[in-house]
Amino acid sequence: MKVSQILNESRVTVSYEVFPPKQWDKIDGTKAVVQEMSKSHPSFMSVTYGAAGTKSGFTREIAKEISNNGITPLSHLTCLTSTRDKIHQVVGELKEDGVENILALRGDIPQGFEFPDTQYFEHAYQLVNEIKSIGDFCIGGACYPEIHPESKNRVEDIEYLKQKVDCGVEFLTTQMFFDNDKFFNFYEMCRIKGINVPIIAGIMPITNANQIRHSIELSNCSVPDKFYRIMDRFGDNPESMKQAGIVYATEQIIDLMANGINNIHIYTMNKPDVAGAIMNGLSAIINE
Ligand code: FAD
Repeated sequence: MKVSQILNESRVTVSYEVFPPKQWDKIDGTKAVVQEMSKSHPSFMSVTYGAAGTKSGFTREIAKEISNNGITPLSHLTCLTSTRDKIHQVVGELKEDGVENILALRGDIPQGFEFPDTQYFEHAYQLVNEIKSIGDFCIGGACYPEIHPESKNRVEDIEYLKQKVDCGVEFLTTQMFFDNDKFFNFYEMCRIKGINVPIIAGIMPITNANQIRHSIELSNCSVPDKFYRIMDRFGDNPESMKQAGIVYATEQIIDLMANGINNIHIYTMNKPDVAGAIMNGLSAIINE
């Protein structure tokens, strides 16, 4: 099924992100994660793509496993370090496997990287155009409530986002955020600027103190004082921190839903127990 159809037909959606292993001998472990996660019935499940594209087979294998478990897969695809030929190969494989949904991404620029030639795409909107020329896929894109780190300002960021959506992006998924006001401001700005596709709120449950440092470094997102106080109080006790992280993420989702945001994506970090606990905390709300 297409993600656009799921978003259209469901009052509320809660989807999950998983990532493939770095080594092939761990693939069965990740498949077991997918099987466990499927039991809590996410609306769909996305699988990330290694920035260099060299392990595209791992993403393919996990997308197939998601499908085998009766869940709609959304396959990520980055273009920065892939030639047109490589992109055609990967998209062709997805078509062959019956995967109908692609999250079209540029990928992060590795240090010292220079664009070699026109065989490569510099921005995600070019990848969107290319995928559309290959087949009938539902294409999603990434967006950034606290601005993409390379953007000069919010206005430029939203203008380029509009360009990407106008190329045929049917839904957007946000970078993680911990302060819902950042999302609400961004959402309003998108609507004012005529970006009218569903915007799925990306929520990262922080269940250990090291994870937040790493996540902030990667994502450039701000952390409210309330969250720092939780880390100060519970950061040294793994079980308490895990419980507090699950409750914080659940509260964030409830606040989003209370404000009319009905599409949530959980960055699960491949932890079925965390994803399941959040789903449990929302059970009556989701089925209301
Ligand atoms: P773009 O849309 O190309 O935007 C990148 C920058 O270029 C922005 O500053 C934008 O404003 C600017 N820009 C856009 N168009 C133009 C233009 N025409 N001219 C000039 N500037 C322009 N990375 C992975 O490697 N694998 C993954 O699986 C993965 N999954 C992700 C999932 C989500 C939901 C998110 C939010 C990010 C994900 N990323 C992933 C990270 C992503 O690849 C990086 O954030 C990357 O730096 C930007 O990707 P993008 O698709 O948003 O790029």
